[in-house]
Amino acid sequence: MGSILDGENKSSVDVLIIGAGPAGLMAATWFARCGIKARIVDKRGTKIFNGQADGLQCRTLEIFDSFGFADRVWKDSNHMIEICLWNPNEQGIIRRSDRIPDTIPGICRFQQVVLHQGRIERFFLDSLKEHSDIRVERGVLPESFSFNEAEAENPDAYPIEVVLQHLSEDEINPEQSKATANGAAGSDGLFRSNMAPDDTEELLSRASKNAKAGSRETVRAKYMIGCDGAHSWTRRQLGFQLEGEQTDYIWGVLDIIPITDFPDIRMRCAIHSANSGSVMVIPRENKLVRLYIQLTTTEKGGAPVDRSNITPQMILECAQRTLAPYKLTYEYCDWWTAYQIGQRVGSNFSKSERVFLAGDAVHTHSPKAGQGMNVSMQDTFNLGWKISSVLNGTSDRSILKTYQSERRRIAQDLIEFDHKFSRLFSGRPAKDVTDEAGISMDEFKAAFEKGNMFASGVAVDYGASIIVAKDGDAAKQGDGTAVQWRDSKRVIGKPELAGNIKMGVRIPSFKVLSQADGRPWHFQELLRSNGKWRIVIFAGDVSGKTQMARVQKLGQELAAPNSFISRFTPPGKLIDSVIEILTIHSARRAETEMHDFPEIFRPFSERDGWDYYKIYVDDQSYHEGHGHAYENYGVDPKKGCVVILRPDQHVSWIGDLEDSADMDLFFSGFMRAQK
Ligand SMILES: Cc1cc2nc3c(=O)[nH]c(=O)nc-3n(C[C@H](O)[C@H](O)[C@H](O)COP(=O)(O)OP(=O)(O)OC[C@H]3O[C@@H](n4cnc5c(N)ncnc54)[C@H](O)[C@@H]3O)c2cc1C
Repeated sequence: MGSILDGENKSSVDVLIIGAGPAGLMAATWFARCGIKARIVDKRGTKIFNGQADGLQCRTLEIFDSFGFADRVWKDSNHMIEICLWNPNEQGIIRRSDRIPDTIPGICRFQQVVLHQGRIERFFLDSLKEHSDIRVERGVLPESFSFNEAEAENPDAYPIEVVLQHLSEDEINPEQSKATANGAAGSDGLFRSNMAPDDTEELLSRASKNAKAGSRETVRAKYMIGCDGAHSWTRRQLGFQLEGEQTDYIWGVLDIIPITDFPDIRMRCAIHSANSGSVMVIPRENKLVRLYIQLTTTEKGGAPVDRSNITPQMILECAQRTLAPYKLTYEYCDWWTAYQIGQRVGSNFSKSERVFLAGDAVHTHSPKAGQGMNVSMQDTFNLGWKISSVLNGTSDRSILKTYQSERRRIAQDLIEFDHKFSRLFSGRPAKDVTDEAGISMDEFKAAFEKGNMFASGVAVDYGASIIVAKDGDAAKQGDGTAVQWRDSKRVIGKPELAGNIKMGVRIPSFKVLSQADGRPWHFQELLRSNGKWRIVIFAGDVSGKTQMARVQKLGQELAAPNSFISRFTPPGKLIDSVIEILTIHSARRAETEMHDFPEIFRPFSERDGWDYYKIYVDDQSYHEGHGHAYENYGVDPKKGCVVILRPDQHVSWIGDLEDSADMDLFFSGFMRAQK
């Protein structure tokens, strides 16, 4: 697992992750790819097998693709193409009032899909196995925590100490199975599903086989991430609060193979009945359909709701009332739950940038918009490469402050969105314009369409910071965290050079061709999650002498022995190991040669020769059309521009080919000189 033994039952590790849900697994995946010594522990005896979260935003699929397993998700999942809105007509009978595309056309090369959390966890586990020796250690519960604040800024220190307890099998049954065991017969589908064929091995290797059961060990860590869900133990150790609404919502969730005459059962539907509540229908893989019903609310501090009163039958009856006159029954129930949640955000996402919180541990909200799992994974997608770059010695610790300013702001936006969306979803439809207590269905549709952009994940826009060279007030653009620039040297990019590439937002993807072999690639496919920064050189029309001279001059500056690329690359490492250059030109492919470009654009290694996969062209392909990348990115095809991308594909800076001094200043703001 990458830990160093200090003595019996004592060890040290660079990063300790508590919790192996989606957030913890995403963090572990980064550490696996960046060669970081990490451990990930979970109190549960197994991963989950069905139920829980299911919706995957198109941005999440882009992220999975950057780790190489989006294709597995794409194949197994149900694709969400259309949303149907159902409302009462003048006689109070539900009818389809609208159809809208589920994913806004053109925003992403993937569309939103649904697949249960257990399968997604499986893909993460397989990926960890393939790329590292990091394995989830199950049946392991942290017992005590101490943090030596005085050592927080010492890069060699292990200021965190956690005592871990290894549980016996009796102790590791998940809470969810206990909750469902109280319900009606046959309701506990949690460990009985026959729909996830490759989990048998996992089922067999319960923690009872763990020879350490019952024992304790002490782990010292440089960093720790609490990904331990809504009741986070880590959050409690830090004394941080979840702040927000006092109201908790209780949701009924039923995963069934429905038997029904409702015509849109294979569409995502929002159904508002006149007086019998509302239902969200989510068509799933393997003929399953998920029904979401908001059952009731409870004030914090009020009498606790007895969840054992909520049964699958009760959820079904609610759905039947909303769907009438259509009929709905089922023979097979895969999973169900009664799920209580409020809308809250953590007061802090980090303690001294050594202990971090991510996922449900710092934000909770309704499941309606399908955001829980996505936003949780995207928290640690934001954090993992930052911690890795500090541990690998390429970045300053100052970069870690951007985790809270970027992700806490996203959580705040999410809660605001969820608040509005839930109110619109749960309310009774207005009878007419004078019915102020009712929800206007036009308002609902407008919110749904607007919400679709937010819910896709591609609109995430990080504020100005040392790693996003945007203009404006950095604290206001983030969560209020103060941002300081090294020696007050702030660089501001030039957004006007690339109209459709936005600093702070992930770069969109269009097809380009490899100059060397003519193969079409979606540009994002080239942006693997491996911790590298990228300089994307839109070299423009290099068939013109003046333009080629500009490109050559930039190449000379970047290749100079004292250039920032040389200074920030560790001795003995390949020149593209920290900052990689990718070029897209707009001349004709057939009239351009790879060797026309400066050598640093297509670096040479003694063993592997020239790198053939750094130079691309915006041109017609033989089989897949023309990507029109320059036009789609809004870049002048004659003059081009330069774009700096973070390791998570978000855009940091945009400038001219002559702006290498600004690029130097930008990287010097947080990178550590290696020579
Ligand atoms: C019963 C239930 C139903 C849900 N249904 C939906 C849904 O229908 N749609 C939707 O979008 N979202 C749903 N969610 C929310 C969604 O699952 C979460 O948003 C998402 O899983 C968050 O990921 P996470 O990794 O932050 O936390 P989790 O998935 O909660 O993972 C936390 C992990 O930490 C482990 N852990 C907790 N405490 C400790 C500890 N002290 N020590 C060690 N390990 C610990 C847990 O065992 C778990 O594996 C549901 C959640 C629950 C609990």
